[in-house]
Amino acid sequence: MDNSPFSSDAIRTYLPDLRGKLNFKVPLNARSWFRVGGPAEVLINPADTEDLAYIIQNIPLNWPVFTLGATSNLLIRDGGIEGISLQLRRGFNDIIPDDAEGLIVGAGCLDTVVAENAVQLHLEGMEFLIGIPGSIGGAILMNAGAHGSEIASILDWVEIMTREGEIIQLPAASLGLSYRHSSLPQDAIILRARLQGKKSNPDTIRNYMDAIRKQREQTQPIRSRTGGSTFRNPDPSISQHKAWELIDMVGGRGLSIGGAQVSQKHCNFLINTGNATASDIENLGEELRKRVFESFGIKLIWEIKRVGRNLVEKG
Ligand SMILES: Cc1cc2nc3c(=O)[nH]c(=O)nc-3n(C[C@H](O)[C@H](O)[C@H](O)COP(=O)(O)OP(=O)(O)OC[C@H]3O[C@@H](n4cnc5c(N)ncnc54)[C@H](O)[C@@H]3O)c2cc1C
Repeated sequence: MDNSPFSSDAIRTYLPDLRGKLNFKVPLNARSWFRVGGPAEVLINPADTEDLAYIIQNIPLNWPVFTLGATSNLLIRDGGIEGISLQLRRGFNDIIPDDAEGLIVGAGCLDTVVAENAVQLHLEGMEFLIGIPGSIGGAILMNAGAHGSEIASILDWVEIMTREGEIIQLPAASLGLSYRHSSLPQDAIILRARLQGKKSNPDTIRNYMDAIRKQREQTQPIRSRTGGSTFRNPDPSISQHKAWELIDMVGGRGLSIGGAQVSQKHCNFLINTGNATASDIENLGEELRKRVFESFGIKLIWEIKRVGRNLVEKG
């Protein structure tokens, strides 16, 4: 008998009219960019916003709820994620032109798809999204950015659902967007957003996107199992060096623990060489933090979000 508070009986009692996809003990290693991580105890793909509101309003308020994006910035620990994991996909991936120069985009849209749509509409300003392998929900929460642009520079407003199931629209200025950070509450679910572009020449936009793709191919291990930049660059008032330089200076390049390795190509990227566990990757990251602290007194801050539980050792 399943004694978990999140058993299939319990879920069906609270959510008899759920329309979205409901699965139990879903291995997340097959989905995550790192290809590591234990299972989601319960994974729901809500059918649409109404279905999501039904879920949020009917499950007990003290149940943990975690929203997964495209998992490109997550290190999901080996014991998996407790409670309810949500992933917004179909039903949350519309892209609708708004006025001449805006796009209203669902949180489940991939950044690359938004960039492609923008160029079709001759909209400049969203090119940087072509290099970010996440979803719009994750991009807003992380204030994702690259090549001198970031979400904060194109975001007009965002619509979120609170943990109580209320939908509210917030102006970008209220989100505390700064370097890879927003002040949105952890339990807010991003539903959709309006991005602001500027009409421009499509050939110029396309050329810029091509240049971004090429540069990333040359400088980052984008075909590896990775989570992107592991650590935030230190504030310039603390160090003039980027995180990768500090890691390089402490002999981190190529360092490995178990199946986890510091990328030879870009040493702020950790990669799963094939059989890494999440704890190999986390331990490798902590080893780099220790070395950098011992050599320079600088505490590197994880940019990658580590979520879930460690595996419980069987005695
Ligand atoms: C090869 C590679 C290159 C990368 N390059 C860059 C880069 O240049 N610039 C950059 O900024 N990042 C980069 N990243 C990191 C990552 O792609 C971004 O942070 C991205 O925005 C994460 O989006 P995601 O959908 O994958 O979110 P996830 O990784 O799934 O989640 C990240 C956070 O967002 C939250 N979240 C996701 N969707 C929602 C939602 N709908 N509502 C509420 N919260 C939500 C999650 O709960 C989590 O806290 C890179 C990653 C890789 C693997």
